[in-house]
Amino acid sequence: MTRFVFITGGVVSSLGKGISSAALGALLQARGFKVRLRKLDPYLNVDPGTMSPTQHGEVFVTDDGAETDLDLGHYERFTGVSARRSDNVTTGKIYSNVISRERKGVYLGATVQVIPHITDAIKEFISADLSDEDFVLCEVGGTVGDIESLPFLEAIRQKANELGKDKSLFVHLTLLPHLSAAGELKTKPTQHSVKELQSMGITADVLLCRSDREVPEDARRKIALFCNVKPERVISAPDVETIYEVPLIYHEQGFDKAVCDYFGIETSAKLNLRRWQDIVTRIKGPESRVKIAVVGKYTELPDAYKSLAEALDHGGIANNVGVNMDWIDSEIFESEDVVHYLEDVQGILVPGGFGERGAEGKIAAVKFARERGVPYLGICFGMQMAVIEAARNLASIDGAGSTEFGSVRNQVVGLLTEWKKGTTRERRDQHTELGGSMRLGAYPCKLSEGSLVRSVYGIEEIVERHRHRYEVNIDYQQRLEECGLIFSGLSPDGHLPEIVELADHPWFVGVQFHPELRSKPFEPHPLFTAFIKAAVERSRLV
Ligand code: GLN
Repeated sequence: MTRFVFITGGVVSSLGKGISSAALGALLQARGFKVRLRKLDPYLNVDPGTMSPTQHGEVFVTDDGAETDLDLGHYERFTGVSARRSDNVTTGKIYSNVISRERKGVYLGATVQVIPHITDAIKEFISADLSDEDFVLCEVGGTVGDIESLPFLEAIRQKANELGKDKSLFVHLTLLPHLSAAGELKTKPTQHSVKELQSMGITADVLLCRSDREVPEDARRKIALFCNVKPERVISAPDVETIYEVPLIYHEQGFDKAVCDYFGIETSAKLNLRRWQDIVTRIKGPESRVKIAVVGKYTELPDAYKSLAEALDHGGIANNVGVNMDWIDSEIFESEDVVHYLEDVQGILVPGGFGERGAEGKIAAVKFARERGVPYLGICFGMQMAVIEAARNLASIDGAGSTEFGSVRNQVVGLLTEWKKGTTRERRDQHTELGGSMRLGAYPCKLSEGSLVRSVYGIEEIVERHRHRYEVNIDYQQRLEECGLIFSGLSPDGHLPEIVELADHPWFVGVQFHPELRSKPFEPHPLFTAFIKAAVERSRLV
């Protein structure tokens, strides 16, 4: 039997609904259940792929090539279940499906309306592509009261009604602000938020109360009374030091028990959360620390590089060290000397990025890492910049650049017009629409014998996730390899350079894919483990 848990948020945004959903997923999984997590996003973009990371945070790419909300990254990291295209939907996608059906005449003359056509399409999404899951956790983005959320709330109301109480549950996440003048946590915003939900026909069954401290018993009882929820279903969700502590604290506060009790599931067995405890212990008490400079472009919003920050932490966990991340806007290197910013770091990472702005600064950071022997990891754009740097400064290829920056004399990185996806050939050109048209999702890559990456991965063929429009030009392979930049990973047909590394350097790797998307706390990505290990070695040297 599949049970559906609908998770909404109230009072303010950014309460960590995604982490809360992921943590509940992990706890139910620890109880032996098969879980799936999904996200319903109320914005009008068809997917977040065209949005700036500084607006909405990172775009998380799934194996099957969907550009999705970053919360799907949390779901994957907490549960290990690979997210799929069918796990994220937006208002834009729902409307575009309904309108395309309308154009085809599918509605047979009916007036197409929000209720029932849009709500039906949302309900279809909620139960599509499932396979015997015990629990489906559906998070509704945004905050209750937003105009955009209304069709989603109406759809989950209808869906729960159809499923019945024994198969559906509403969790509402709210905020209890602490007023220092009053010396207490205020419950009124929560009461209002619950009332707002009720006005839409939804009664919260479990309340998850976020606050900067534990919610005292009297406040819990008051909330229970006013919000029509049993006291044991008012769960305290205090701030914690690391997100990996959330499953532990939720369990302690009785969240998973409340959910199981609601569904009449026996919960006598003590839950073994040892692996979460181990991770938290390692994060809180590292043996030492290393400093990694992340030289990027979207440094003002931490969420813009969410998976990257997590993957670096995972690399730290694997090496028993803490990772201090120094987020540097690469544009600064176009007017200031890199030395001042980079001389005391043990590793340099240039992450994914788009557009010319800040590119020369990234190239300057690559040059510094190459010349000074500082461990370097270049991801996607960071690999492309490493190749351009080597082309200009090692191979003396004049005017080496990327066609992403306009016309360049030597197209060392160029627009990809054709590639193989499985047995089919995908084609793009300059006039293709921007949305969803990059090389997206999982692609295989062959690692060359004797290379650094071959020893890092320990296998010959890997599969990693991509999201880019441009590719390193294979025509330059020989010239660059003669200068020491080895093309150590290629697409199986040998046409697309996927990994480069420097022969004469302690640790210098550029990858065309995004390894951070596959890293998990319990399975740190080998590249991040090896990169942080190299940084630790560097810290011992210098
Ligand atoms: N802008 C580059 C491209 O499209 C790199 C993209 C990325 O770093 N994800 O190829």
